[in-house]
Amino acid sequence: MKANYHTHHYLCRHATGNAEDYVKEALRIGLKELGISDHAPNVRVHDHGVRMQPSDLPVYLKDIESVQEKYKGQIKVLKGLEVEYFYDHEVYYEFLRENVDYLIHGQHYISMTKQMSDLISGFSLKTVPEINRYAAYLEDAIESGHFDILAHPDLYLNSYSQFDKYAEDVARRICDSAKKHDIILEYNANGYRRGGKKTKNGFFPNYPRLEFWKIVKEYNCKTIFGSDAHLPEFLYNDTVQEAEEDYKKLELNNVEFLTLKK
Ligand SMILES: [Zn+2]
Ligand SMILES: [Zn+2]
Repeated sequence: MKANYHTHHYLCRHATGNAEDYVKEALRIGLKELGISDHAPNVRVHDHGVRMQPSDLPVYLKDIESVQEKYKGQIKVLKGLEVEYFYDHEVYYEFLRENVDYLIHGQHYISMTKQMSDLISGFSLKTVPEINRYAAYLEDAIESGHFDILAHPDLYLNSYSQFDKYAEDVARRICDSAKKHDIILEYNANGYRRGGKKTKNGFFPNYPRLEFWKIVKEYNCKTIFGSDAHLPEFLYNDTVQEAEEDYKKLELNNVEFLTLKK
């Protein structure tokens, strides 16, 4: 791993460490670039235990700017945010983009009606209509042009555990759209810390899911490896290294360093 663009920060309230803690760890493990991408503030989502408040955004940006200055010449540090795609939020995404170098899309919620009042967790999708709606969210997020990287695009498989023809169809819709719009799909190491199956051939997480990534390979979509660290020591620990080994075995079309849109 030479760069990581999926890194959190204590302001989201479920991660630890400030920008400098992550930079120190990044230097220790020899990264050339570190992108910090905490969960973006959003007044319309009432999950304030897992994202920064709007008033935290300037604090967050300042914290990153301070390490950009302090560690200049040692490591390149980028300002990012991770955020869901919601409908009718165009001004919001434009505002976020103006403030950061890149945006990571992470669809942690969907709504069957595309409203904000009936959100369901992306981790707990169980039916075919739900995973199809998830696919629509990702296609629309990609087409919106607001995002640089799609984090854990196979999150829908966390609870929809059988990789049947419906799951495959969702994978194909995502890959087709990603390929067409040249967006990067992230192989998310944090999935290795969640559920999965232990077999004699090793651990198979619910996501990243091998069947999904074989389809990504078939489409030759651009991919990136992301640690999704919520603790500085999780930037490149044993679990992340195990995930990286699996990622490398897939021999996907890998983007090592992010090219910024602006
Ligand atoms: Zn998080
Ligand atoms: Zn994340």
